[in-house]
Amino acid sequence: MPSKELMEFLNNTGQYFMQQQDLFGNIVYTDEKKMEKKAPLKENIAFPDEPWVSCQSLNDLNKEICNCLKCPLGHTRTNFVFGVGSPRAEVMFIGEAPGADEDAQGEPFVGRAGQLLNKILDAVKLKREEVYICNILKCRPPNNRDPEPIEMETCTPYLHKQIELMQPKFIICLGRIAGQWLLQTKDSLTALRGRIHGFAGTKLIVTYHPAALLRNPNWKLPAWEDMKMFRKAYDEMKEK
Ligand code: URA
Repeated sequence: MPSKELMEFLNNTGQYFMQQQDLFGNIVYTDEKKMEKKAPLKENIAFPDEPWVSCQSLNDLNKEICNCLKCPLGHTRTNFVFGVGSPRAEVMFIGEAPGADEDAQGEPFVGRAGQLLNKILDAVKLKREEVYICNILKCRPPNNRDPEPIEMETCTPYLHKQIELMQPKFIICLGRIAGQWLLQTKDSLTALRGRIHGFAGTKLIVTYHPAALLRNPNWKLPAWEDMKMFRKAYDEMKEK
């Protein structure tokens, strides 16, 4: 159970925890349903008072935010998983959240799903070092559960800052959760994949999460179609 000091700290930084007392007067977390909801994402993009907002490089940004405790995931993580790859990458892959391997190593997509992502990169003739790979959430949700909307709202400004610093030409969302969240839609993965969306001046593609491809190999074919569509658009951009 978190201490009173911790709860006060969270309330001062995260602002969405409600302090409650149990029958015995102990301070307890509210359950998630009772959490006070923060302002919607769009109104929440800038945090003018926080030092990371003015960072001019990914390294500086990582240093400024890697001790983040704005949500409870900060208290259960082993490592903050900022992102990996070239800061000058034209292609940015975005997954949903670190899993156990990523939490242990502090790098996104290093487990089985990551190995499949490496093969997908190979297939479209890209090296892991020349793209950039990160997640919506920088900390692992316990038991690999889906990210909660409030966690994504809290963490997304960091991702927006990464995008602002990198200005990638293509964003590839790995899986429904990342795609729906960035595009702020409830459309299904089937509706989102297979075409090129616009996002913050960048082309955005949504495709299957590699973990989903491991569970259901039948999806590898449509995933390959998405990646071929990406490669064609990428080559066309290069030719201009
Ligand atoms: N799944 C994700 O969405 N991200 C990772 O980094 C690993 C697995």
